[in-house]
Amino acid sequence: MKFYSTNDKKNLVNFETAVMEGLAKDGGLFMPVEIPSIEQEFINSIESYEFQEIAFRIAEKFVGNEIGKSDLSDIIRSSINFPAPLVNLKDNLMILELFHGPTLAFKDFGARFMAKTMGYFVKKKNNKLNILVATSGDTGSAVAYGFYETSGINVFILYPKGKVSLIQEKQLTTLNKNITALEIDGTFDDCQRLVKSAFVDEELTSKLNLTSANSINIARLLPQSFYYFEAYKQIPNKSIHSVFSVPSGNLGNLTAGLIAKKMGLPITKFIGAVNSNHVFADFVNIGIFQPHPSVQTLSNAMDVGNPSNLARIRELYDNRLSEIQRDIHSKSYDDVKTRLGIKEVYEKYGYILDPHGAVGYMALKDYEIVRTTARFNEVILETAHPAKFKDVIEEELGVEIDIPERLATCLNKQKKSVQLSSEYEDLKEFLLGAV
Ligand SMILES: *Cc1c(COP(=O)(O)O)cnc(C)c1O
Repeated sequence: MKFYSTNDKKNLVNFETAVMEGLAKDGGLFMPVEIPSIEQEFINSIESYEFQEIAFRIAEKFVGNEIGKSDLSDIIRSSINFPAPLVNLKDNLMILELFHGPTLAFKDFGARFMAKTMGYFVKKKNNKLNILVATSGDTGSAVAYGFYETSGINVFILYPKGKVSLIQEKQLTTLNKNITALEIDGTFDDCQRLVKSAFVDEELTSKLNLTSANSINIARLLPQSFYYFEAYKQIPNKSIHSVFSVPSGNLGNLTAGLIAKKMGLPITKFIGAVNSNHVFADFVNIGIFQPHPSVQTLSNAMDVGNPSNLARIRELYDNRLSEIQRDIHSKSYDDVKTRLGIKEVYEKYGYILDPHGAVGYMALKDYEIVRTTARFNEVILETAHPAKFKDVIEEELGVEIDIPERLATCLNKQKKSVQLSSEYEDLKEFLLGAV
């Protein structure tokens, strides 16, 4: 399979180049030249396949012969190695739990698959790779855990000192081995500026084989389509329409779902549920794309004012708004409504949603009113474990939330970080000495 840049359809690369470059040289995002279709027979018999077998069937269509079958199978077995269960709240209303990975968020699927894929290409070339990422807290840990113990790859994670939560900091600073946490005396913007400076520093990039593990990497996007198939597999009544509500920020999760649909997965409608950052809802509803500075909300992983994957959604639909509207419904919900959603689901079903999932729930409730079909399967993607938002949930529900074992263990470990100022020269000196 070849991949093109959303900025230039004639700029074609293979899978390896798309993965290792992350972002196209012209600044565009990589997209497959065609969306392969999945055999109808496979969909009909999907219940007889394991999650990892499903993942393999989808992945090989995009990877082609660039990774051998047994290597691709190894990549999947070592990355898609936790379940995505569909939990029933009541008849036809289901939660797809995507938080069973090591960092308790759905980003583990993408980050782990990308890490193992990059690890494969690095090993094939007998290369060494250094990855530099800035994080405001959450995405960094998924990346760190994904690359943990991958030979040939060192990861340096920059995070702002004193500006991430205790749990987030522990997740970043207790892995060690090939993961180095750099505690920057500055803000998240400083961290991003430092990373950007490093990438344009020719002396540094010539000495270190430096790359980013960008959230828009195609190897992070594709594996997110796996769990839509896995969800469909678990829907008990497949004879009625299915609607999936996706809590959205940068739109990677939603884009992966739309790709699954285009491959032939029978999902009738997607709901792009957004928080007060409503740029996407405006685009879907009135066709105008107007990026805004992001505003802070409870569902902070969705605080995105200029969602980059919109470029990919436009590509999937040849930029035809009416077709986008046929497949996607989108609406914005503020923090008050988010809290209402958490409360309502707990009171009605005894299930604890995190703030991101609550936005998905509220959007689904509203969609029930505007729907046209009589009865349909409703699936809410729960993108994070509620324990990650312990304070808000406990305040809202007055119940105590247990911290899952895999998170609790890192809380007991000793923090290890390298303290650096926000001066670029300090970072450079450290990197040159460390590698
Ligand atoms: C990143 C994230 C989102 C948003 O996903 P996108 O793919 O950026 O739309 C939603 N919920 C959680 C918990 C996240 O970490």
